[in-house]
Amino acid sequence: MAFIPYSTQSIDEDDIAAVTAVLRADYLTQGPAIPAFEEAFAQRHSVSYAVAINNATSALHLACIAMGVGPGSIVWTSPNSFVASANCALYCGARIDFVDIDPSTRNMSVSALRDKLADAKNAGELPSVVIPVDFAGLPCDLQDMRALADEYGFRILEDASHATGSSYLGAPTGSAWADATVFSFHAVKIVTTAEGGMITTNDAALADELRLLRSHGITRDTARMHGPSEGPWYYEQTALGFNYRLTDIQAALGLSQLARLETMQARRTALADRYDTILADLPLTLPHRSNDRVSAWHLYAVEVDPAGPSRRTVFDAMRAAEIGVNVHYIPIHTQPYYRGLGFKYGDFPAAEHYYAHAISLPLFPAMTEQQQDFVAATLRTALSA
Ligand SMILES: *Cc1c(COP(=O)(O)O)cnc(C)c1O
Repeated sequence: MAFIPYSTQSIDEDDIAAVTAVLRADYLTQGPAIPAFEEAFAQRHSVSYAVAINNATSALHLACIAMGVGPGSIVWTSPNSFVASANCALYCGARIDFVDIDPSTRNMSVSALRDKLADAKNAGELPSVVIPVDFAGLPCDLQDMRALADEYGFRILEDASHATGSSYLGAPTGSAWADATVFSFHAVKIVTTAEGGMITTNDAALADELRLLRSHGITRDTARMHGPSEGPWYYEQTALGFNYRLTDIQAALGLSQLARLETMQARRTALADRYDTILADLPLTLPHRSNDRVSAWHLYAVEVDPAGPSRRTVFDAMRAAEIGVNVHYIPIHTQPYYRGLGFKYGDFPAAEHYYAHAISLPLFPAMTEQQQDFVAATLRTALSA
């Protein structure tokens, strides 16, 4: 059987036609495809504003700035994430810290967050922003986090890079609970623009600030200018922004992909349900299930039993069979750069324990049941070795 990747993009003829149409049109960037994609994304997620950004890393950076993160600020995130969830705070000169995960959901633990907030309050070191991550597409415990945010006065910047199309307590991810939510459209994610990101919020001022910051801090809106316009050419730079713009080519691809989100999601869900069934009798911990939330199923991540063959043995057997298993995530605090900041092994034991046993199995919309059966059979053999 040909190589089976852990994830891959789904591109159809409509996507190709949408991109081609932009290449033949007037605007390759800063044109009409951007607001069209933003409006469709906002509508699909039942949220007031969506701001398109060139990738989710930039989106996290801008959202931190717009939320006032700077030198002296404290930001907390989950150690079980991609490094970008933490790097964004450091870009702003802030201090980063982590809150360990709940071993069952693999997301930031609410009880660990509650305890850490109580300690931080006593020490006078409360965070101004907390960045929970919807690992594998499973929404975090956002209702409880919202209550803590209101009690302790921090803002929630949800990293939903894995979670386009998920929902929690009936509300689409990005519409409620968090102050702002970031999505990624990297090629391996749920919806792709090759590279790309989006920030959703119901806060009009925050959305305005994000739009300003993504394009150099420059405005052509007279209402936002400090002085009168000097003519039709006139613009003002009112903040130190960046060029973090998405192109029209990418936005057109995103808009076309978004039209297939439901179909792609249904396929991911069907494959995840089927994994649950065909792997049920194996010595594995399968992904968490709960009735109050719907996962986007970016990843189907299992944990091998600590008493059985090691993760390395199982991983190597899968790769030898041309199955592109992967591991998500090396806990951020154990990266050499973060150890250089003073973090050490043992700081967040639940994330470290999860990492030591985790394997992400292939899951993508075009995956066939034959491919999935082959993955399951190979895993079964590896686990009985
Ligand atoms: C992919 C990812 C990012 C970064 O997204 P880019 O669009 O590649 O910058 C951030 N956080 C998490 C959890 C991710 O998986």
